Amino acid sequence: MPLYTNQHLKIYNSLSGEKENFNPIHEGNVGMYVCGPTVYSNVHLGNVRTFMSFDVIFRYFLHLDYKVRYVRNITDVGHIVDDVDEGEDKIAKKARLEQLEPMEVVQRYTVDFHDILKSFNFLPPSIEPTATGHIIEQIEIIKKIIDTGIGYEANGSVYFDVVKYNETNNYGVLSGRNIEDMLANTRDLDGQSDKRNPQDFALWKKAEPEHIMRWPSPWSDGFPGWHLECTAMSTKYLGNHFDIHGGGMDLKFPHHECEIAQNEACTGQSPVNYWMHANMLTLNGKKMAKSTGNNILPGEILSGDNTILSKAFSASVTRFFMLQAHYRSILDFSDDAIVAAEKGYKRLMEAVDALPTISVSTTSSIDIASWKQLCYDAMNDDFNTPILIAQLFEAVRYINLLKEGKETISAEDLALFTAAVNAFVFDVLGLNDDKAADANNDKLEGVVNMLIGMRNQARADKNFALSDQIRDQLIALGIQLKDGKEGTSFSI
Ligand SMILES: [Zn+2]
Repeated sequence: MPLYTNQHLKIYNSLSGEKENFNPIHEGNVGMYVCGPTVYSNVHLGNVRTFMSFDVIFRYFLHLDYKVRYVRNITDVGHIVDDVDEGEDKIAKKARLEQLEPMEVVQRYTVDFHDILKSFNFLPPSIEPTATGHIIEQIEIIKKIIDTGIGYEANGSVYFDVVKYNETNNYGVLSGRNIEDMLANTRDLDGQSDKRNPQDFALWKKAEPEHIMRWPSPWSDGFPGWHLECTAMSTKYLGNHFDIHGGGMDLKFPHHECEIAQNEACTGQSPVNYWMHANMLTLNGKKMAKSTGNNILPGEILSGDNTILSKAFSASVTRFFMLQAHYRSILDFSDDAIVAAEKGYKRLMEAVDALPTISVSTTSSIDIASWKQLCYDAMNDDFNTPILIAQLFEAVRYINLLKEGKETISAEDLALFTAAVNAFVFDVLGLNDDKAADANNDKLEGVVNMLIGMRNQARADKNFALSDQIRDQLIALGIQLKDGKEGTSFSI
């Protein structure tokens, strides 16, 4: 019997603002769409957190024996700078600045995105469609929206009339916004815009002559609006009505609101049963921003090549750190927090590694089945990974007591316990055991520290030829020494 028949999952639905029982449209199947990255720069740590939240959600569905179709797109056209309709396409702008073909920008940052996600042990989605690969589908949707009278053409561009839509529907149903307030709080159109109302959004934009990214359409040579691509790709692969749509909290409005409106206009039904939004990541208590320097790239955590953290941290430690917070909570990233996470992660892994060494008894003094159900209860409660991790530390406590002979476990229970610990740690949370790599790193650190000591001695003896030789030969091996007030450190 599939596991999901015994485990009753609840999901917080952003649409209702409540935790709801999860009932898939087709029994045993889950259709999930998550808004992917706009590939015009290196993937942001905040994005990694969002995608990690959905990676764990995907993993838990798989663990429960659901058949999952997980669609996560690549936005390679149509995402306008500042998310408004007037302005430059993010990818076209980057291409202009770096003198590249737009598709070179797309390729470069798609590869970076995949590399980073792989290094953090993400499972690939079932389908990863691109916006430029679905221009025809987007044009077909625009035609339908125009046919309903809600889409209108103006000077070769096509817009969605939110005021007209709101006469029969509720524009603001997801974000809780009210169209009258939105209109009251917006400047009047200055006559430059082709829009009927300031809140109207572009379905199709006519390309200026210098614009490189352009496709023919019934209205003009141009490019599709950003909100439209997700409607086209989600419904193409999951149908007009599917189970879950996810993304970062910042996408709730206008992006997801507009997706609902487009679907409602086209098909007369709301597309998604459960809307899920992952919260943001801050760095040292502040919003991450490249412009202020309060920023760290995911790869810089792994390499240690940054000014924010005291040293490098592994992908598993970073994953463990992020999953200690619930996906709907704001998470603050700092050196202290990840140092603490590293300690916890190591304690967990030591206990996991000790499982095979536990000796069995005829009876169990620990109730393994109850403990295991508490792990499921945590995940069934809107994927509560911090509670699951707390239960895994309860398992660590059991393992230590068993090792000390203060508790007993039967062979049958030990097999059940080991399987459950491994499933939650490796399959559901997606952690890796860094111990083997760590052991080598510890040795390397010992050797480099020994050489630093020898170099210090050479300098004290005024043997600068030797001290320089040590430094230069380490550089040749890719190890850089940094002399500071608190002694010499190194980076690889
Ligand atoms: Zn999207």
